[in-house]
Amino acid sequence: MIFEGGAGCAHDTRPDVRKWSAGSLMPQTLKSRILVVGGHTRSIGKTALIVELIRAFPEAAWTAGKITQFGHGVCSRGGAACDCAPDEHTVALDWESDASTGTDSARFLEAGARRSLWLRTKQGRLAEGLPLLRKALAEGSGGMQSSGAPQNVILESNSLLQFVRPNLYLVVLDPEEADFKESARCYLDRANACVLRRPLNARESASWSGVSRLLTGRPIFHQQADAPLPGGLVAFVQERFFGTAGILL
Ligand SMILES: [Zn+2]
Repeated sequence: MIFEGGAGCAHDTRPDVRKWSAGSLMPQTLKSRILVVGGHTRSIGKTALIVELIRAFPEAAWTAGKITQFGHGVCSRGGAACDCAPDEHTVALDWESDASTGTDSARFLEAGARRSLWLRTKQGRLAEGLPLLRKALAEGSGGMQSSGAPQNVILESNSLLQFVRPNLYLVVLDPEEADFKESARCYLDRANACVLRRPLNARESASWSGVSRLLTGRPIFHQQADAPLPGGLVAFVQERFFGTAGILL
């Protein structure tokens, strides 16, 4: 029943999440609390929201990350055209080591994340990146593992929802931006809350049809670009994320 709803989603793009939850590809005992931030298109402040959440909860010692699926023909290694075959260089994961480069993963470090990763895959190949992500989360977690406390993970992605049921999924929406990615629409019915950059009634385009219905009953936090993080959202994350137990990815 988890996957019900989400008009227009082919069922074959929504495999049973349970097969990914047992950590069967490698032994993993470290539990994580996972917060995923998605959104319907680019440049609506998804990365900014993660930066603000990292700053709002510095004691969380976040493992932060960005997941990017490149378009067709773009290589996961270099993020540019490459002469690799379709089945080569399908996935790559790097840890950010320099907080000053201005990349999204560097911004997470600069905001105070304990570590920050960037997982890149070719279009439609995210499943192949999951073992890398799982391994990365299991690595380098230091004393947190012995304390038994879950590590706090915050990731920017929509498509991860295809494989993982996170503790919290926040969706950023700006009704002035017409584009609505299919990956975001598919999982909108699983959003725990929505961050609206502008009033929802501002747009009536076809690409947004049904969106307000999918959001009915979900908490909505209004935050214009560059405005401070709403206090209600901080309280919501405190209760609905930090109040939950860790899971095995
Ligand atoms: Zn390549």
